[in-house]
Amino acid sequence: MRLSEYFLPTLKENPAEAQIVSHRLMLRAGMVRQSSAGIYTWLPLGLKVLRKVEEIVREEQDKAGCQELLMPTIQSADLWKESGRYEDYGKEMLRITDRHDRDMLYGPTNEELITEVFKGAVRSYKDLPKMLYHIQWKFRDEVRPRFGVMRGREFLMKDSYSFDLDSAGARVSYNKMFVTYLKTFQRMGLKAIPMAADTGPIGGDMSHEFLILADTGESQVFCHKNYLDLEIPEEDIDFNDHDGLQETVNKFTAEYAATDEMHDEAKGAALGSDLMTARGIEVGHIFNFGTKYSEPMKAVVTTGEGKEVAVEMGSYGIGVSRLVGGIIEASHDDNGIIWPESVAPFKVGLINLKTGDELCDSVCEDLYNRLNAAGAEALYDDRKDRAGAKFANMDLIGLPWQLVVGPRGLKDGVVELKNRASGEKQELSLDDAMSKLVG
Ligand code: ATP
Ligand code: MG
Repeated sequence: MRLSEYFLPTLKENPAEAQIVSHRLMLRAGMVRQSSAGIYTWLPLGLKVLRKVEEIVREEQDKAGCQELLMPTIQSADLWKESGRYEDYGKEMLRITDRHDRDMLYGPTNEELITEVFKGAVRSYKDLPKMLYHIQWKFRDEVRPRFGVMRGREFLMKDSYSFDLDSAGARVSYNKMFVTYLKTFQRMGLKAIPMAADTGPIGGDMSHEFLILADTGESQVFCHKNYLDLEIPEEDIDFNDHDGLQETVNKFTAEYAATDEMHDEAKGAALGSDLMTARGIEVGHIFNFGTKYSEPMKAVVTTGEGKEVAVEMGSYGIGVSRLVGGIIEASHDDNGIIWPESVAPFKVGLINLKTGDELCDSVCEDLYNRLNAAGAEALYDDRKDRAGAKFANMDLIGLPWQLVVGPRGLKDGVVELKNRASGEKQELSLDDAMSKLVG
């Protein structure tokens, strides 16, 4: 993409309405614009990141055997009346009436709808287990939408649902998602810590929130400091090795970790100097709720003995749009965003220090074409602007690499390659710079 053609409305000044760094940087870098309270337009640069985050989430769900479908945003209230949640959900639910006076709603989550889809299709234990997911916009009329996309009213969520015959099977599904979450966040350069979460009347130990640490997080976190060093499971994990999955889950739940809602002072104090207290952002939540929905909604299957039982279910959410802000909270400096390569909107920012100079222009054109042809997406600053302004802009939008082409270097046949995260700069020949970038 050529910057001269790109729709990238960056801001020079810090927007007054943004209280936290990710919100500030997303507005300044031209990633999003607020449309109304807690509702955002994703501009081209922001959307590119959102899609990359979404794709990592999708790939890891697929690897775990979870199958993607797509449910609608607008749901009929009837299903929620069946499950009993229509009244309970309160003001966070956006209720809508259609032209025939039917009660509809903009889905804040999809347990009811997926249960309905499932029960129309599956009748026998032979079709179990099943895991289904979608990545769809949700609406929750939050009392205090704030911090940009971190607590929006309209937000993108990945929600998966598992269906099992019995509680042993449900635990396997739960463990698959638990391990998948560790891998998913790791791929985005995040260290997410699983924390025991409230299971309410369902009881048991199968509910965890995954939090990343950040000073601006809304939750207070108490955990053993070992969590920072635990090794995330290998990429080629075998999801059929149920004992192996359980071992990993055990390892990640062995030590104390809780948010303020669940914190037990005595347990925290028992850790002594190993206790770490910090702020955290909830990026995911997994929850096994047994037959909470399958019973009232009559999602039953026939067992091998011919009995009918309500299926065991779990749901597993990831805040896809919140993660974009979360990644920035975890990775930025005074000059702007520092994207991990896995989610970066472009891999390389190509800076022409003297647009209009014949040699600079032709070398840049050549590098730009070679980078794109090799699959290293490049954003080419081909505008006529001061060098200082171009550097500041590239630092702000945070691409992992900056490739700087100027007349002085070209005299010696070199360009400068800067790593955004370390700040390290190297003078390299064109070919060496290319091979470093596309290797
Ligand atoms: P929170 O406690 O932050 O309000 P929640 O517990 O209500 O979140 P869940 O129902 O567990 O949220 O939703 C799954 C995931 O969706 C959360 O872990 C979070 O990452 C994301 N999420 C929830 N609410 C919002 C929101 N208002 N804006 C952006 N992401 C959200
Ligand atoms: Mg939650």
